[in-house]
Amino acid sequence: MSIRFTWTPGQWSASRLLRPVAAVLLGSSATGIATAEWFGGQLELMGTSVSVELWHDDAAVGQALAEQVLAEYRRVDDSMSTYKEQSEISVINSTADRGAVPASDEFFRLIERAQDLSRQSGGAFDITYESVGYLYDFRARKRPSAGEIDERLSAVDYTLVLLDPASRTIEFARPGVRINLGGIAKGYAVERGAAILREAGVDNALLNAGGDTRVLGDRRGQPWIVGIRHPRVSGEVVTRLPIVDEAISTSGDYERFFEEDGHRYHHIINPVTGTPTEGILSVTVIGPDATMTDGLSTTLFVLGAEAGIEFVETLPAYEAIIVEASGRLSFSTGLVPPEG
Ligand code: ADP
Ligand code: MG
Repeated sequence: MSIRFTWTPGQWSASRLLRPVAAVLLGSSATGIATAEWFGGQLELMGTSVSVELWHDDAAVGQALAEQVLAEYRRVDDSMSTYKEQSEISVINSTADRGAVPASDEFFRLIERAQDLSRQSGGAFDITYESVGYLYDFRARKRPSAGEIDERLSAVDYTLVLLDPASRTIEFARPGVRINLGGIAKGYAVERGAAILREAGVDNALLNAGGDTRVLGDRRGQPWIVGIRHPRVSGEVVTRLPIVDEAISTSGDYERFFEEDGHRYHHIINPVTGTPTEGILSVTVIGPDATMTDGLSTTLFVLGAEAGIEFVETLPAYEAIIVEASGRLSFSTGLVPPEG
């Protein structure tokens, strides 16, 4: 498949798409005298690489804060990973069809946000996709048969997740329902990390979990430069965006997938069919909150280019870039040049 990208960011003078400046490599340079520098850390977690870089003028504090952010990523993963038997989400998945299960404040609130996004998007975002989704194993090239999907598809319906704010409990309205926060948890994790750093007075930081990035401030005098990966050519970027104090999430059909008979089975599932979405290669969303940019990037994938752009236009703080299999690029109005 050939994708013709006719877009070069330097030609665009939109409000957000400032002329990109050269990417500068991150890294701490120990001068020995001045202690103000970049501190960071990185882990393999949540099926991807997660990291933090922050500026601090005290080496001990800077390094401790980086560790604290990594510990926070771990804590979120411990609660929200369906791969961990003892995680809060696994306990809910195995018991909530038999009655209301008490949830932690944090977990309950994140599920509420997921449900809000489901309602707003007409069910395109739906954490119960997992009722069918658990049968896919992209590493093992495993997918459910049409019959297996049929049997379970009626359990893919976010309205089957019953939340009681008074008792802070979660219940599934019927057996067979499962939830998965993979479409929102990485954004949530970097947003949590950003909150810790902000409270500690950090002004400049970059937090990343796979396709989800949150930056605080700028890169000390320059915007942070975030590359949008080329969906088909590894190591290449479609464009670079200058980002200041914002979040950016990219979802791609290349993250987790396998191919069979010329068909690509990837990890974003259309809740209506129980099968991977078609037609879109990648979606990037930019806005103030990483939990939201993460959830939205998945949502727009399911909605498709036209409905997806239409949806993001209802959210004034968020912008999107959609790359279709046809090679067409779509932008929300905050990114489109004045002359169209
Ligand atoms: P990643 O950064 O892992 O590529 P995305 O933000 O693109 O994550 O979200 C993909 C993940 O979202 C899938 O791996 C799955 O866990 C979850 N997911 C898939 N389909 C849906 C859907 N329709 N609604 C909500 N979550 C979904
Ligand atoms: Mg997402």
